[in-house]
Amino acid sequence: MLPRFIGSEIYRLPVFKPPHPLAVPRAMLAADLCAALGWLPDAQYEDSPAASIAELCRFHTPDYVEALAQAEQNQDLPEQKRQKYRIGADANIIHPAVFRRPATSAGGALLAAELTARGGIVHAPGVGNHHGRPARASGFCFVNDIALGILRWRELGVRRIIYLDLDAHHGDGVEDSFSADSDVLTISVHEAGRWPRTGVCSDPARGIWNFAVPPGFNDSELLLLLEEKILPLIRAFQPDAIFLLPGADALADDPMAKLALSNNAIWDAVRAVKGLAPRLVVAGGGGYNPYALARCWAGLWAVLNAFPIPETLPKAALDVLGGAKYFRAAGRNPPAHWLNTLRDAPLPGAVRDEVKAMIL
Ligand SMILES: [Zn+2]
Repeated sequence: MLPRFIGSEIYRLPVFKPPHPLAVPRAMLAADLCAALGWLPDAQYEDSPAASIAELCRFHTPDYVEALAQAEQNQDLPEQKRQKYRIGADANIIHPAVFRRPATSAGGALLAAELTARGGIVHAPGVGNHHGRPARASGFCFVNDIALGILRWRELGVRRIIYLDLDAHHGDGVEDSFSADSDVLTISVHEAGRWPRTGVCSDPARGIWNFAVPPGFNDSELLLLLEEKILPLIRAFQPDAIFLLPGADALADDPMAKLALSNNAIWDAVRAVKGLAPRLVVAGGGGYNPYALARCWAGLWAVLNAFPIPETLPKAALDVLGGAKYFRAAGRNPPAHWLNTLRDAPLPGAVRDEVKAMIL
């Protein structure tokens, strides 16, 4: 099976307004960039269905799903429900597609699991709400599409599953969901001390591995951590499937976190993981600089298809990047590499003692 790319026009709706961090083009900017590069023939593009209420309730509680639907319908929610479900609380704003959009990312995760039931590769950059809880929104995540995708794999007979999370934030919602399941190993690499400030320790007996890395985490450090620790863990587990959350907020160009990766490191990680299981779903996740995330995720799609990364971009791709809107100050005068390349300059560096200690 050719790798499939799952997207949806719903991700283009400008439901978030500045200064909300998600008020930037994301999954479909990556899709547009892939299309401009000639990498998205119809045979490889899948439109994401929306998950049904019953499908959402495989992970979420019925009362929570009902509250989310009510929030969209009324564009409001009673205070007591806001407090209980954190919908319309924190930065989990009630917006015009607050039910349909997460239901679509959940549907995308279910489709990804189904498309790969017998093996294969899917990239679903609109999927990746790793903080979602059964009855609570958290960290802009109204559903846990990843957990739903993993559960779908289980229903389809896929047994041993690795969840690898490279997002700058701890993959707390997914970790909690599967901590009692010895057939799911969760591995999260995230910035130490950053929200939600969990994921400090590993618990190998429960299949939980956490690497809380220091600010400034560079390409050399990620690659060494992968080679020496994470890839051996994955190989020893002999997974039937891998669900990878690349994130794009661990990139040096991201405004929200303080990690310092170039997109080369993320692509190398994907390349390394690709052959370790017969099924691979690569989602999206965080990422709040549209140029950095679209270039990262488009390049990742190239890696999954073994397309060479072009050193210069054709006009159609330059037009996609040039047309993107970024509300932050840096968006007023973007550096050249955000607009005219796919590949970042590599960001190697010294491997610090904190990172060496994680490997030993
Ligand atoms: Zn994140």
